[in-house]
Amino acid sequence: SVTVVGSVNRDVVLQVRALPRPGETVHAVGSREGMGGKGANQAVAAARLGSAVRLVAKVGGDARDILASLAQDGVDTGWITTADRTRTGLALITVDEPGENTIVLEGGANRELTVADLPEVLTSAGDVLMAQGEIPPEVTGAAITRAANQGATVILNPAPAYAFDDDVLKRVDVLVPNLGELCTLLGVPVPATSGEVGKLLARHPLPVAALVVTLGADGAIVHDQDGTVHIPAPRVAAVDTVGAGDTFCGALADSLVRGRSLRAAAERAVLAAALSVTGVGAQSAMPTAEEVDLFAQQ
Ligand code: ADP
Repeated sequence: SVTVVGSVNRDVVLQVRALPRPGETVHAVGSREGMGGKGANQAVAAARLGSAVRLVAKVGGDARDILASLAQDGVDTGWITTADRTRTGLALITVDEPGENTIVLEGGANRELTVADLPEVLTSAGDVLMAQGEIPPEVTGAAITRAANQGATVILNPAPAYAFDDDVLKRVDVLVPNLGELCTLLGVPVPATSGEVGKLLARHPLPVAALVVTLGADGAIVHDQDGTVHIPAPRVAAVDTVGAGDTFCGALADSLVRGRSLRAAAERAVLAAALSVTGVGAQSAMPTAEEVDLFAQQ
């Protein structure tokens, strides 16, 4: 099965004509509330594709609807604990007409997740552990080390990117950054074309076994001991790319736990993520296995 250790947020999205400047008040032309947080999103993505998924996380007392929604998607919520006095993580998002956005994130209960909240038996051999950067670093680090010791395949989506300990990175089987996150980790400027990513990867100093770099509409690059392969994304009418990376990561976990090769997993993740950008919202636009299978035949 797949165990995700990560964040749960409530997303409040306000659509505006133009993003407000400091001191300015603007009227929203539309709004919606959704479920978010990279941990919850990636758990839902993998569960929709059919994997057995458990999410280890912390929420506030205000998250009843979120827990119900996760359970509805088949995510095991038994290891989600509730903080006494802190509310669920909150993302306040404004999006303008061209699709540019600003996001204010309040970590809330995510910041109170501790190493003591992690189950002793986090994973079993053959399982996949999925982690991201939205919970305290020591919890991410402990989860990765524990799962690696238990024989699981460890995937780290370093989002947001920060300086992860080398001791932690050494236990990661697959690191999945987007291009911006890769460049932050390497301390280099973002290259003008994705064609230059291969050069960056050829001499990257990160102590991880394999890397899958997501490149938006350009697809993804898989870099491991077998070499470097570019997987182009299918052309789709993109409506909303929020959650594309999370769909990609969840799909990668779903395929790896089924024993697919990293390259085959990335190919399927590119299809799942392309489908997710054709619908509005993060979790609401994540495809099922049948939808990905159908899309693959087209
Ligand atoms: P993030 O959402 O983390 O910024 P990316 O923008 O790299 O990550 O997107 C993740 C994946 O989603 C890409 O590797 C690609 O497979 C898919 N994707 C994103 N945008 C598009 C798009 N416009 N068309 C097709 N696929 C896309």
